[in-house]
Amino acid sequence: MNLKPPSLQPSAIMQRAIALAQAGVSQSGCKAELPIAAILLNAEGEVLAQAHNGVEAAQNPLAHAEMLALAQALKTRRYLEDCTLAVTLEPCAMCMAALCHARVGKVIFGAYDPKSGGTVSGARVPQHMHFKPQILGGIEEDACRTLLQSFFQTLRNPA
Ligand SMILES: [Zn+2]
Repeated sequence: MNLKPPSLQPSAIMQRAIALAQAGVSQSGCKAELPIAAILLNAEGEVLAQAHNGVEAAQNPLAHAEMLALAQALKTRRYLEDCTLAVTLEPCAMCMAALCHARVGKVIFGAYDPKSGGTVSGARVPQHMHFKPQILGGIEEDACRTLLQSFFQTLRNPA
């Protein structure tokens, strides 16, 4: 029997992250901002933090969605063992290391990133870390991949 709150179902969380990524594109007005978003929930399924990638807006190469969401949540807590972070693209090595350091219990991602990912691709960071979050990849993968593909298509063919 599944007693998890419905808001904690992986596809439900990911759909919220996708909506956030889509909203970020229309709100930021910054057409070069990669549409990637992260959402962090506690054990009750309540949103502790959420963020859109902000590299261009903040002119900060470290302002990945996961880093921004973590920074928000870590203002109130030291560790996030009972929390779930969902992000539309496989976390890079930097973000994945940060998620391990913050002891996020579960990491859910959408699209795989064989080029720049560091979670199950590339550096496979969790293998080298003391705390290893539970990893769930490929959730709502098509929607997450389409989001990024249409972004790059618009970049190449501006209206
Ligand atoms: Zn990252």
